[in-house]
Amino acid sequence: MKTCLFGGTFDPVHAGHMVMARAVEAAITPDRIVFMPAAQSPFKVGEDNLFTPRQRVTMLRAAVAGWAVAEVSEMDMLLPAPSWSWRLVEMWLKRNPADELYWLLGTDEWAELPRWSRWEYLAQNVIFAVYHRGEPPKPRPGVRALFLQGEQHPASATHIRSCLRSGRAVPQGWLPGAVENLARKYLEESASS
Ligand code: ATP
Repeated sequence: MKTCLFGGTFDPVHAGHMVMARAVEAAITPDRIVFMPAAQSPFKVGEDNLFTPRQRVTMLRAAVAGWAVAEVSEMDMLLPAPSWSWRLVEMWLKRNPADELYWLLGTDEWAELPRWSRWEYLAQNVIFAVYHRGEPPKPRPGVRALFLQGEQHPASATHIRSCLRSGRAVPQGWLPGAVENLARKYLEESASS
């Protein structure tokens, strides 16, 4: 199967992530796009997530409901923290050895790739799908990648968390409706507990 993995914190999932996933769907027509929320990003250790892993999974499931090729995997929750992408790929390939694997990421992550643990292992086993919003990023010798040019979406999870924490409205169109409802419900529940 042609499978595109999409790892991220998704705290919470927002319209920018959805635009990326739609772009990869249009470009490579995968059999499935698998959102893989990180239990604990190695690059965000010490930073508090606003939502628990379970809440982030539930919001992702609400965001992709009814979208035939999209699914949410809790694989990272089974592995000890922090979340290393290579371990997800290794585990995925153990379970699905015949898959042709893509890994969706943004240009900020593409620029940081050499900092990723065992990125060479990843490069041997996936084709990177790099979503960018302007000049195509620089190719990396020996790393298979395709560059997806897409529309600029201003959504930022950091800004969304700041709005939610301070009770301000999230900018229109940044959160899928079902995700915003869940996010507000979770915050109310934690405020009253
Ligand atoms: P935070 O603000 O918490 O760092 P984030 O959305 O940047 O959130 P992740 O949830 O880990 O972080 O994002 C997964 C991927 O989505 C990253 O590769 C990031 O580059 C990309 N991304 C995030 N927001 C956008 C956006 N508005 N447009 C395009 N790509 C985005």
